[in-house]
Amino acid sequence: MRVVFFGTAGAVQDAADSNVCFAVRADGCSFLVDASGSPVHNLIKAGLDPLSLDALVLTHSHADHIYGVPSLIHNLWLMKRSKPLQIISNPPTSAKTMELLECFGLLKKEGLFPIEWIDGEKGVVEMAASLNLKLFPVQHSIPTSGIRVEERAVVFVYTSDTAPFDGLFAASRDCQVLIHEASGDISREKYLNQAGHSSARQAGEAAARSGVGRLFLCHFDYFAGPSPRDLLKEAQASFNGDVVIPELFQEYMIRDA
Ligand SMILES: [Zn+2]
Repeated sequence: MRVVFFGTAGAVQDAADSNVCFAVRADGCSFLVDASGSPVHNLIKAGLDPLSLDALVLTHSHADHIYGVPSLIHNLWLMKRSKPLQIISNPPTSAKTMELLECFGLLKKEGLFPIEWIDGEKGVVEMAASLNLKLFPVQHSIPTSGIRVEERAVVFVYTSDTAPFDGLFAASRDCQVLIHEASGDISREKYLNQAGHSSARQAGEAAARSGVGRLFLCHFDYFAGPSPRDLLKEAQASFNGDVVIPELFQEYMIRDA
């Protein structure tokens, strides 16, 4: 299973970084997790064919996670895509995304490819013969889903935006990689948690409790700081495994331990 990040920033972008968004490739299937920046530009830059994209997984309806959806659908329509696209999310996120698409009249475009809206918290979604995906609720300021992706024994979990919560440990059982948000450092922990976010220390703690070997940090706040480099050190103090600040457009292989 391979993951490539198109952005690792929180809500505020930086010259060298866009909002958190990444693509996953496994078992002949590809999907995008959240849609920010320029999705089609990013897919092509990463060597992925937008016309063969199987699904779009949306974690929640905050602007920084879904503002790219209209551009993605508009591009795919102009590119004469015919293959159906699954949009997998929780129901409030689907409803807000539909509103966003209706705002631009995109759902009424002549010849638009079929869009299949799937409630990913309702049950396991079979993406391919050996690839399953399941959404689970996390602790944020609006209904938000984390994602568990399994390709046989290879498993990763993405928290999306969340404060620390106990349910993560059941969701991340037998998981090798945890992709966890780190919206700030320990000095802002109280504020972060109240706003439904986590510090780098808490991301490290979650990785240690989950028993994963590798932790990817994301959702950096370049406006309030500190730098991702400092957050990496903070997470390393509470987690003995490998902590990674993802390089954009570098493909990371997720393997069985
Ligand atoms: Zn959010």
